[in-house]
Amino acid sequence: MKYELLSPAGNFEKLVSAVSFGCDAVYLSGQDFSLRAKSGNFNNDDLKKALDFLHENGKKGYVTVNIYARNYDFKTLPEYLEYIEEIKADALIVSDPGVFKLAKDIGISIPIHISTQANTTNYMSVKFWEDMGASRVILARELSKEEIAYICKNTSLEIEVFVHGAMCISHSGRCVLSNYMTNRDANRGECTHPCRWNYYLMEETRPGEYFQIFEDERGSYIYNSKDLCLLEHLDELMDMGVRSFKIEGRMKSSMYVSVVTGVYRKAIDEIVKQGKISDKQRLFDLLVSVSNRHFTTAFFNGNPDSSSMNYATSSYVRNTDYLGIVENISGEDIIFQCKGKIESGEVLSILNTDLSEKQVYADIFDIDGSKVDFTKPNNSYILKTDTKIDKGAIIRRYL
Ligand code: SF4
Repeated sequence: MKYELLSPAGNFEKLVSAVSFGCDAVYLSGQDFSLRAKSGNFNNDDLKKALDFLHENGKKGYVTVNIYARNYDFKTLPEYLEYIEEIKADALIVSDPGVFKLAKDIGISIPIHISTQANTTNYMSVKFWEDMGASRVILARELSKEEIAYICKNTSLEIEVFVHGAMCISHSGRCVLSNYMTNRDANRGECTHPCRWNYYLMEETRPGEYFQIFEDERGSYIYNSKDLCLLEHLDELMDMGVRSFKIEGRMKSSMYVSVVTGVYRKAIDEIVKQGKISDKQRLFDLLVSVSNRHFTTAFFNGNPDSSSMNYATSSYVRNTDYLGIVENISGEDIIFQCKGKIESGEVLSILNTDLSEKQVYADIFDIDGSKVDFTKPNNSYILKTDTKIDKGAIIRRYL
């Protein structure tokens, strides 16, 4: 079986990073009808450019149209779906049965994948979507390994699962915390993440007197799940017949997309080739080096308990700073887009697209060739080194 590594692409730069570090496909959104309203996303022209770039590089692009639609959405959806077909998306990702029906009614012929937001938790629902004409189901994240295995055994439809990234504390697609507390609808891409906020208890006649819900001076993040990481169980998922492995994170940085894509690429390739991952600890260390809320296997080994929660902080942790991405190489000149301040002479870590890491001294020039003492983010610079560095490599500093 051919396995697919599916990466998030919140904008063009992240899409290029995913391709450089070895994804097979990306999922991406236009500016409407998707669940990541704040991730940058692609306007119609950019969506076409993104799909052209993916196809030129032998990769696929799946376009998310996974809002739960309202009546008024159907005025503009037909035209949008036709456009997605015209620009040759490889699939639509849909949650709402109404959107699915519309796509079929107007004769959209590209494959339709059923989003995890549709909460497919059993083989009979998979059969339902198969009968309706779906090509793939992205299972709910709230399933154990036995449930995933049973579903795979009882369908010939392609099955996709999330293997890495942030979890919703409630069933994905069923959460109304954000709607209730901030009037912003998670099922229309506007979630304000109140599940990550710090909660206290207040008695109604004592406004301003906050009682802790957990005996800790930091308060309590009662809804704050750790991030999903199924690196350890990738081989089991492959044995079960899962076809596509999805990384969450369209709103994360290019460094995150690069590193997590590179790690799962290596893991999948090594399992296919030699039956196991050769250096799991190194891959795990790389995952820890980019934004995470510590890791959990969530529902994979049964219902999660308190060890799946992060009560200490809802902030992300990482042990590297993202400093730049290599745009081009000309001899010993490494041209990079700067993402963080670099001081001349400091030691930089470069992560190549094959995950090899090199240490180099910062010998940095501006584009006109004048040496600089420090860099400013969002400008291009030249790093001079005779070390072998790839286009697309990530420049970082260990903390
Ligand atoms: S508030 Fe949290 S659990 Fe609810 S949809 Fe948003 S991220 Fe998911």
